[in-house]
Amino acid sequence: MKFDPARAINTLTSQDHFGGVNPSITDSSTFTFSGAKVMLDVFEGTQEGCFLYSRHWNPMNRYLSDALAALEDTESAWVTASGMAAITNAVLQICDTGDHIVCSRTIYGGTFAFMTTYLRKFKIDVTLVDTTDLESVRHAIRPNTKMVYTEAITNPLLQVSDIPALAEIAHAKGLLLVVDNTFSPMMLSPAKLGADVVVHSLTKFINGSSDCIAGAICASKAFVESLIDVHSGTSMLLGPALDPVRSASILKNIHTLHLRMKQHSRNALFMAQNLKEMGLIITYPGLPEHPGHELLKSMMNEEFGFGGMMSIDLKTTDKAWSFMESLQRKHVGYLAVSLGFYKTLFSNSGNSTSSELPAETQAEMGLSPGLVRFSIGLDNDIEHTLELFKESLREEGIL
Ligand code: PLP
Repeated sequence: MKFDPARAINTLTSQDHFGGVNPSITDSSTFTFSGAKVMLDVFEGTQEGCFLYSRHWNPMNRYLSDALAALEDTESAWVTASGMAAITNAVLQICDTGDHIVCSRTIYGGTFAFMTTYLRKFKIDVTLVDTTDLESVRHAIRPNTKMVYTEAITNPLLQVSDIPALAEIAHAKGLLLVVDNTFSPMMLSPAKLGADVVVHSLTKFINGSSDCIAGAICASKAFVESLIDVHSGTSMLLGPALDPVRSASILKNIHTLHLRMKQHSRNALFMAQNLKEMGLIITYPGLPEHPGHELLKSMMNEEFGFGGMMSIDLKTTDKAWSFMESLQRKHVGYLAVSLGFYKTLFSNSGNSTSSELPAETQAEMGLSPGLVRFSIGLDNDIEHTLELFKESLREEGIL
């Protein structure tokens, strides 16, 4: 049967609590035990169902984690204080000193910096590859490789990862496939397509209100338990626990994610089609000429569309900057990093969220200095937004 992530979340939360329509926040860092032996058993991991300390689990964090596990159809999930915490904790839990990672070269700049610079502290080697070139992924695997890492839809080039094929390549060599699904919640279900671990920046579409930073690791129960093991769990020991008050607000927002994703997708497709017709260089996976379009169609949960992320290549940084400033003056959206907000957000990737990538890498992967990345908002009147875009394009001498 077709997987419906929206139904999975809805079913879970409506059954799980009675009384208030939203679960109550447990505003406690620590929890009492009925007896000393139970406390020891919880520490040893032999007693389930008890709360120990909120760096480990808190009831509200559990509600949100359960919703995310339902969304991604994984056995379990653990929420973190940021998307970067989710990524770094998952990677450090899987890899030891001397291990090796095959990693997509088009990824969020923070992840890129972590992979290429920070992991040197642990003597973990990373080979960057174009993960859409499956042969180069296969080729990069070494005897000490532990994982293949990619973004489902990559930041900022919006390439589509062939998750089933990457899973097959990884699993044939006994490796884990870790997928960042930040750009494509609901529309893609990487775990159903073969990913072992799915990470998210909840900061973006999932929360949707740009009022907090948060993340999640969705995986098997065994993997989540390993993350919070009191002796060796990366998350338990590095401590990026999410504040339960924040979890409560994210959980409320997650229940409108299906509607928001549909509207982001509808608006982005409309903008992409029309701007393309005007002769602009548009990248949007919903356009038939996008190289990953057919692949995305074969993997996606169709009703949520092709997502809210689109880019325009204006070739030069100067053009990109003046165009963004003009759009902001017309209240089309905000010149800001991040994504998944009700308002359109735009940034010049090479000079912002991908600025961690050296100029040669940007050039190699085809990241133009004039690329403007858009997270298209929830505008009710997208035709009017298009008119404002056209005005800015004319005023800036682009049209
Ligand atoms: N993954 C992707 C694809 C991102 O775009 C970002 C941030 O922009 C992150 C992860 C990091 O998330 P956070 O800012 O919540 O730490």
